Amino acid sequence: MELLNTLVDNGLRGESPTRAEALAVLATRDEDLLDVVAAAGRVRRQWFGRRVKLNYLVNLKSGLCPEDCSYCSQRLGSAADILKYTWLKPDEAAASAKAGVAGGAKRVCLVASGRGPTDRDIARVAETISAVKEGNEGVEVCACLGFLSEGQGDRLREAGADAYNHNLNAAEATYQDICSTHGFADRVDTVRRARDSGLSPCSGLIAGMGESHEDLVDVAFALRDLDPDSVPVNFLIPFEGTPLAGQQPLTPQECLRVLAMVRFVCPDAEVRLAGGREVQLRSLQPLALHLVNSIFLGDYLTSEGQTGSADLEMIADAGFEVEGADTTTLPEHRTSADRVSVRRRGAGTDLPPNA
Ligand code: SF4
Repeated sequence: MELLNTLVDNGLRGESPTRAEALAVLATRDEDLLDVVAAAGRVRRQWFGRRVKLNYLVNLKSGLCPEDCSYCSQRLGSAADILKYTWLKPDEAAASAKAGVAGGAKRVCLVASGRGPTDRDIARVAETISAVKEGNEGVEVCACLGFLSEGQGDRLREAGADAYNHNLNAAEATYQDICSTHGFADRVDTVRRARDSGLSPCSGLIAGMGESHEDLVDVAFALRDLDPDSVPVNFLIPFEGTPLAGQQPLTPQECLRVLAMVRFVCPDAEVRLAGGREVQLRSLQPLALHLVNSIFLGDYLTSEGQTGSADLEMIADAGFEVEGADTTTLPEHRTSADRVSVRRRGAGTDLPPNA
C-alpha cells in the first residue's frame, strides 16, 4: 500500500504524516490491519528496538475530585464503585512502588485525583518522591497531580521528579463536551509548565469516548505540536455511575489503528498503552506491542488490569523484552541538551536512529 510506504519512510526519519495520511490510517480496512501494524512496527523498532518499558501506578489520592471529566470514575458526583481515600503516606507509597519495581517497572507514576495540588500537597508529594527514590535506586518518578500553578513544577523537579503527566485526552473542538469545569487550554498550559520546569512532559489521549476520526487526529496533532516525551494512549473504561457508562467500545481492530496512527504521528516518542487495554483490545493486546514501546504493569487507578505476571508473559511470548533500568528509553536526539524538536513533513533532518 503506497500510503504505508510513505508513512514508514517518514517515520524512519522521525517525521510525522500529513493530517490526510493520519486520517487514512484510521480508515484502513480490517483486512489490511496486519499490513498497518507491520508498517508502524517498523517505525517503532527503528527508535525503540523490541524493548518494552514498564510503568507502575501508585494512586496517592483517590476519588472526591471537584472536576467533572465525564470519562472519569473520580469525577464530581460519580456514583462509580471505587475506593476513595486521601493521601497515602510516603512510606506506604514507597512500599507500593517497590512492588512495581520488583515486577520490572522502571518508572513509577505518582497520581492524585483533583484539580491540582496545593503548595502543602506539593510538599507532601516531595517527601513521597524522596521515599520512593530512596527505596528504589534508579527508578524514574513521574508525578500526575492535575493543573500546576506557578513554581510547583520547579519544586517537584527539585524534589527529584523526572517527569510530569497531564493528558490532553480529547480534541480542542470537542473538549467542552467531556468537561465543563476546565478547558483544553488549561491542560496545554500545564504540559508547557512542566516542560519549562525541566520535567519530561508526558501527555496523551483517550480513545473510545464516541469521538470521530477527525477528533482523534486533532488531539494526536495537538500532542505532536506539544512534543511530549511520552504519549499514553488510553481506551475508555466505561464506568457505571459516569456519563459515559453506556458508551460502545471500539473494536480491537479500531484500537490498533488508533495506536498505529499515534505511532506515525509521534514516531520517536514513547507511546504507552495505558488504561482500558484489557476491555477494548482484549485478545489483540500482544499485537499492540508492535506499535507501543511502553505499557502500564498490572492495575490502573480505579480498575484492575491483568496481573503483572500475565503482562510479562505476554511480552516474552510476543518476542519483546522488558527494558532494563540501565537503558535510556528515548532516542539520543530527544534527550540531548540541544534537543531536536518535532519534525513535520518537509522540515526533516537526518536523525540518528536509536535501534
Ligand atoms: S481532574 Fe482528573 S481526577 Fe478529576 S475528574 Fe478530571 S480526570 Fe478525574
